[in-house]
Amino acid sequence: MNLCSEKYADLILPLAVPQYYTYRVPAELQEAAQPGIRCTVVLGARRMYTGIIRRVHSQPPEGFQVNDLLNVLDQIPYVSELQMQFWEWIADYYMCTVGEVYRAAVPSGLKLESESRVYPAKRAEGVPFTPLENQILDVLENDPGISIQKLAAVLKKNTIMPALKLLMEKQAVSLEEDLKASYKARIKDYVYLNEQYHGEASLHKMLNELEKRAAKQAALVVKLLQLGIFQPGVNPCLRPVDKKELLNESGGSIASLKALVDKDIFRIQTEEVSRLSNTRTPVRKPYALNENQTRAYLKIQHELEEKEVCLLHGVTSSGKTEVYIHLIENYLRKGKQVLYLLPEIALTSQIIQRLRYVFGDAIGVYHSKFSDAERVEVYQNLVGLQRENSPLYKIILGVRSSVFLPFNNLGLIIVDEEHETTYKQFDPAPRYNARDAAIVLAGMYGAKLLMGTATPSFESYLNALHGRYAHVELLQRYMDIQLPEMVLVNLCEARKRKQMHSHFSKVMLDAIRETLDNKEQVILFQNRRGFSPYVECTTCGWIPYCKHCDVSLTYHKNSNRLKCHYCGYSIPHPDRCGSCGSDKVLNRGFGTEKIEDDITRFFPQARVARMDLDTASTRKAGEQIIQRFQDREVDILIGTQMVSKGLDFDHVRVVGILNADNMLNFPDFRSFERSFQLIAQVSGRAGRKGEQGRVIVQSADPQHTVLQHVLNNNYKGFFTSQLLERQTFKYPPYYRLVKLTLRHKKLPVVSQAANYLADELRKSLGNRVVGPEFPLINRLFTLHQKCILVKIERDKHFSERRRSMQQAIDQLFTLENFKGIQVVPDVDPYH
Ligand code: ADP
Ligand code: ZN
Ligand code: ZN
Repeated sequence: MNLCSEKYADLILPLAVPQYYTYRVPAELQEAAQPGIRCTVVLGARRMYTGIIRRVHSQPPEGFQVNDLLNVLDQIPYVSELQMQFWEWIADYYMCTVGEVYRAAVPSGLKLESESRVYPAKRAEGVPFTPLENQILDVLENDPGISIQKLAAVLKKNTIMPALKLLMEKQAVSLEEDLKASYKARIKDYVYLNEQYHGEASLHKMLNELEKRAAKQAALVVKLLQLGIFQPGVNPCLRPVDKKELLNESGGSIASLKALVDKDIFRIQTEEVSRLSNTRTPVRKPYALNENQTRAYLKIQHELEEKEVCLLHGVTSSGKTEVYIHLIENYLRKGKQVLYLLPEIALTSQIIQRLRYVFGDAIGVYHSKFSDAERVEVYQNLVGLQRENSPLYKIILGVRSSVFLPFNNLGLIIVDEEHETTYKQFDPAPRYNARDAAIVLAGMYGAKLLMGTATPSFESYLNALHGRYAHVELLQRYMDIQLPEMVLVNLCEARKRKQMHSHFSKVMLDAIRETLDNKEQVILFQNRRGFSPYVECTTCGWIPYCKHCDVSLTYHKNSNRLKCHYCGYSIPHPDRCGSCGSDKVLNRGFGTEKIEDDITRFFPQARVARMDLDTASTRKAGEQIIQRFQDREVDILIGTQMVSKGLDFDHVRVVGILNADNMLNFPDFRSFERSFQLIAQVSGRAGRKGEQGRVIVQSADPQHTVLQHVLNNNYKGFFTSQLLERQTFKYPPYYRLVKLTLRHKKLPVVSQAANYLADELRKSLGNRVVGPEFPLINRLFTLHQKCILVKIERDKHFSERRRSMQQAIDQLFTLENFKGIQVVPDVDPYH
């Protein structure tokens, strides 16, 4: 055989190994095997993987027996050259492997491996199957959930991946992930005009009568016609109108709506909000921008001609979203794609709805709470393999992992709420920050990036002040509604004067009562869930801790158990002290559950809902709470920071923050910045429409600089006041941090390894190396931990320095004494 015609492919496999794997490309696959194409291979003891071809070449690898590619799965590349370069950038910057990036970047359904479990799905009707496909389906019928490896063994075939891939495309087979997180259609109430009024004469007669005796109801009918784009004779097809949108846009009351239903004029139907149907054409043009918004919009456009990145610093409810919508329209007109990034925790339905009204179903939604099958759908759509009935997406609305989607013509990236910590991935690798990665991504596509927030991160704000980013401000709320008035309550004084009722000051209780009397709504914020963060024996001081982690257990009253918020370990609430046997075991501190408990005692008539990880762990549960609050079926919403996320409610008059101190005192260099952001963002939920809202903050230290600056709505002053400290102690935004966490079952091993590593690092990095120290939690999931922090000046040597850190880590791994040690590098960590 002529050796020159031999071809080899370097593959990215979904593994935490630093190198690419080389395989021989058999002659019959040579034409199909191109960079970015998926293929299947066997590695080691018959483990099968889906790899991505990075490059094809004719250099035979040396030193090992090279294996053949089994199959090639695609005709067109699933991953472009640019995406692979982006993956390589992420791996390099965040100190992980490209394989780990691949694992995070591509939905499971597109990277089947031996262990993937497959299930039969509804057989697509009228689709023919090949004999092999039928064989596979027969096996699945008898053994649903069989792993791919076993399936291959049963059929005595190594080459079932292409057949499985086709079966997935025919939707005859699905993966385990889909069963776990299957998409629950969202339900909404739609309002219809009953058919007897669809004629011109009957409609006018009805309207005339209403106008005489029930003007408000008439106004509702007119609004419905407008929103449903209905005109008898001319436009006879009434579009479904969302009940909430109708009430919002018309300012009408539920009572008027009810009356119309009772009169058989309206009919309300509960329907699924179809995410993928293509019946959703745009309903309206974007709202016209007001003067301030227009100025901001023009300035953004202008500045982005020169600069790559723009920071839009707009107060809550200034209409940032409306400005985004106009920009998106502009980029779509130029034929460009737009990526709209949202923080992970945000409940997207409000914003999806707002964008759909304007852009119809040109929007693909990519969320970690959607099923894998849905993520596959969005991914394939962008590759150009869109499903039937689904248009090509031009806008992707998504959480951090959507930076990995296969765009080809990206023109604009919007990073909404850019200060949010959920843009940073903690675990597992790649520990990337989607905001920062998006800047690099935009650079690769020649696209522009707009980040918006009411409370910029210090990093972004400093970049804006230094002119690296364009800086645009929008400091008036829409309709000039005043920012909420802020009241600080001194907890010590209130206690002295006996004005505290449980965790509520008199001022807070009075404000809540008044709001309820006016039939308006309240949000109460407490950044801890559960009933009380710990329990304690008052006789001997015993506190129950988690068996696996060094953290106290939180009491949850609903389940009457103590739980670890890190690993989930739980025990029944103890009646007696586990140490001295005393029965004086008290609940200490308070969380959202306790607030709910108090509130229902103080205001038994109020309708109360709680939103935290316990009640809103699924997207659907969270959305339902929001929906009920929005529809005013709930008077008081109690929550953790979940309630601070850019939600737009119309009738919230009072926001209460029950204890600002535990945020302020959190031992972390970012805690003041975070507290300012949280308090300002939660406050931003008050009085967004109509009258000015009120925010009540309880604290033992109302003179605290953070509180005083929030009180005066002085972001810039606050920022300036903090800079010196950040600079002096070498923290961001002046320095870059890299945190190395070492973990091992045995404490002495961790300690010795950490000392060794720190010494090694000091050889090249000197006094930039701090520690090793114990982290906030010494032991997590049964593993002991130690941390080394490296503080690095912002200059061009950063990649060199990361490389020398990596060398020191690799060196550590070669030592026999430290076997089993884990080292987790975190570049630009949040804590
Ligand atoms: P932000 O994103 O800055 O918090 P939003 O874009 O959510 O502000 O605006 C707050 C509210 O004001 C929303 O209900 C929005 O629809 C409304 N709004 C803002 N600008 C306009 C405008 N130009 N025309 C009509 N409504 C607007
Ligand atoms: Zn005791
Ligand atoms: Zn634990």
